[in-house]
Amino acid sequence: MGTKMSKAKKAKADKGKAAAGADYDESEAGDTVDMTITLDSKFTTEGNKKLSIDSFELIKVLGKGSFGKVMLVKKKGGDGTLFAMKTLRKAALIKRNQLLHTATERNILQNIQHPFLVNLIYAFQSEDKLYMVLDYMGGGELFFWLKKHRRFSEPRAQLMGAEITLALGALHASNIIYRDLKPENILVDLEGHIRLTDFGLSKDGITGPGAEGGTKTFCGTPEYLAPEILDNKGHGKSVDWWSFGTLLYEMLCGLPPFYDTNIQKMYHKILCAPLRFPSYLSDDSKTILRGLLQRKVEERLGSGPGGTDEIKNADFFKSLDFDRVMAKEYTPEFKPPAGRNDTDATNFDAEFTSERAVDSVVTSHMSETAKEKSNFQGFTYQNEGAMES
Ligand code: AMP
Repeated sequence: MGTKMSKAKKAKADKGKAAAGADYDESEAGDTVDMTITLDSKFTTEGNKKLSIDSFELIKVLGKGSFGKVMLVKKKGGDGTLFAMKTLRKAALIKRNQLLHTATERNILQNIQHPFLVNLIYAFQSEDKLYMVLDYMGGGELFFWLKKHRRFSEPRAQLMGAEITLALGALHASNIIYRDLKPENILVDLEGHIRLTDFGLSKDGITGPGAEGGTKTFCGTPEYLAPEILDNKGHGKSVDWWSFGTLLYEMLCGLPPFYDTNIQKMYHKILCAPLRFPSYLSDDSKTILRGLLQRKVEERLGSGPGGTDEIKNADFFKSLDFDRVMAKEYTPEFKPPAGRNDTDATNFDAEFTSERAVDSVVTSHMSETAKEKSNFQGFTYQNEGAMES
């Protein structure tokens, strides 16, 4: 069985990415962004500079992003571990002012290793492309499973919600706002555990829960946008807890709380429509959702001095011990099908997996000057745990 990414979904994803692309001005993300400033170069050792696409066996195409494809790979001469390799075309990044986003994503991935965040194992580059080798998430996107199963049982939403809470908590503890929480950015492994991916939109160095110490950049996906972003009042870590509330609502009820096919109406609903619940929701679910989907930022769950603990302590999670969640000691209720063998990529769209896995040649329109400017020094990286392989 392969996942079907509908045209609507692709459009939705592209829309989100287009919105993301609009939020940095030329001075921030023009073609002269110096990657050496933003990237920590401590991992650029002589040894890993030797890594190239030839160090990997390319097995399947898993999907396509705006700037290149994602492939299932294995390191040649390694222990057989499967990875997802994300390729990004430098010329496309420069053309669409995405250098800063890429630097942010690369930085965050390197600096935080967490059981519920997609970890960066290696990063290297060629003249035309950047390559990021990441944890392989064989279950595909949560988006697919949510559409397929329509909604999740409370225990399933509790465990996934707890894993997402720990992931967001870890980002916030490093003063990073994720800002783009949505089912497309949550990947599932073959055990049914999740990891957040796609850190291109995240903001580094944010300290406050609200506007103070926050950022005024407008970005994100409409369904999940917090009211203070729509109101252009500046926003901090609390926007992630609003998006988490929207996502948890969607997991429990099948649709986001303020959903409307008309985007203007949806904005209006996010700002002022009453929050309604289907009759089957438990009181604990309603209470946590009311807390997270609180329009007054200072009253929102997670915005107080307790931060992430306010969410962990909600009755909705009372059956879970968060230390055990962190250690993955709970078995997820749903396990994605594994396929006949590890490299089957059965949970990915046949539109991609049927393609031949090759590192396509870039027919570059990038000028020589742009190429010089795009010397992404400091991008190369090797996860310490992977040094010996
Ligand atoms: P992205 O460019 O990050 O939006 O990725 C495009 C597609 O590649 C996603 O929709 C996923 O289906 C797939 N993908 C991305 N990262 C991974 C990963 N770490 N493991 C498995 N599949 C991935």
